Amino acid sequence: MSCLILAEHDNSTLHPVTAHVVAAARRIGGEIHLLVAGDGCRRVAEQAATLDGVAGVWLADAARYADQTPESVAELVAARMAPHSHGLAAATAAGKSVMPRVAALLDVAQISDLVGVESGDTFVRPIYAGSALATVRSSDAKKIITVRATAFAAAGTNSAPAPIESLAVPDAPGKSRVVSRRLNRSARPELDAARVVVSGGRGLGSAENFHALLEPLADRLGAAIGASRAAVDAGFVSNDLQVGQTGKIVAPRLYIAAGLSGAIQHVAGMKDSQVIVAINKDPEAPIFQIADYGLVADLFDAIPALTAALGRTGDGGRNP
Ligand SMILES: Cc1cc2nc3c(=O)[nH]c(=O)nc-3n(C[C@H](O)[C@H](O)[C@H](O)COP(=O)(O)OP(=O)(O)OC[C@H]3O[C@@H](n4cnc5c(N)ncnc54)[C@H](O)[C@@H]3O)c2cc1C
Repeated sequence: MSCLILAEHDNSTLHPVTAHVVAAARRIGGEIHLLVAGDGCRRVAEQAATLDGVAGVWLADAARYADQTPESVAELVAARMAPHSHGLAAATAAGKSVMPRVAALLDVAQISDLVGVESGDTFVRPIYAGSALATVRSSDAKKIITVRATAFAAAGTNSAPAPIESLAVPDAPGKSRVVSRRLNRSARPELDAARVVVSGGRGLGSAENFHALLEPLADRLGAAIGASRAAVDAGFVSNDLQVGQTGKIVAPRLYIAAGLSGAIQHVAGMKDSQVIVAINKDPEAPIFQIADYGLVADLFDAIPALTAALGRTGDGGRNP
């Protein structure tokens, strides 16, 4: 058995999710190789080489991979799979774009959103928006897998880096190219890696209220901001902040849910948070069933009061 992991990065920094995927691969067993595909991305390969358990890094450094289009990266991954039994990537937007294409190119089924490993061919994954866990056995010769990063503690690093081998890659441009890209820049921590998340729902009532109430609280806590799909659909915030089955999966140390009901599709994205605090004026709201601390209150009173109280504490609540 051996695993090939597609590293996630922005051509200069390795995304932390890759260390979680390495941890999942270590549970599968066998040698682990990382594939870094990008342009001017040697630094990423050097970071990848220090992850514990990695035997080697393949570096595909070419203009063709500058934008890491799923089509070009999938072709590369599929071509590199010959000596490997398992191909893995994080179940992020990037991984979820590439790996189904790899599975199709190899004519195998994909195993999505891995949360547990029973053996080299038997895996655990959530179904019904996380309401149940399915144990699935794959009889495919190659297992193509996306990994839910929050289910595996990140692999550590070591001071003896694995070897990096450059791949000869075609010069020709791929079949698709990126025409433009608009990035939302934020000084806040990334939602899927934050220690604290403050999330708002339809109960905030408007985009103005959402920002006016939740941002000061998030600032006090050094938190990322999340949202329910209803809040996103109502235009309060952009959809990259959506938490849930069709949004991001988060597992912070503290998740504050304000004015959101706790629909099963939202809970699927945050139920693994260590401590859940819910603020809702409806005592019957389902979010209270999974909350560690529940406050039945009008959020327009409770959130300013909470923000003010945190302002009076020594560290602003930054060490939950
Ligand atoms: C296939 C599918 C995928 C989906 N994926 C997602 C997903 O990824 N993420 C997601 O979030 N949803 C998802 N949904 C939608 C989901 O089913 C719910 O519709 C949505 O989560 C509801 O958002 P909400 O809790 O903000 O709104 P609501 O359900 O309308 O809840 C608003 C809450 O705010 C409370 N409230 C109102 N005013 C106040 C106040 N002043 N003070 C305190 N509390 C107040 C109310 O009591 C209520 O509980 C999906 C649905 C489908 C069908």
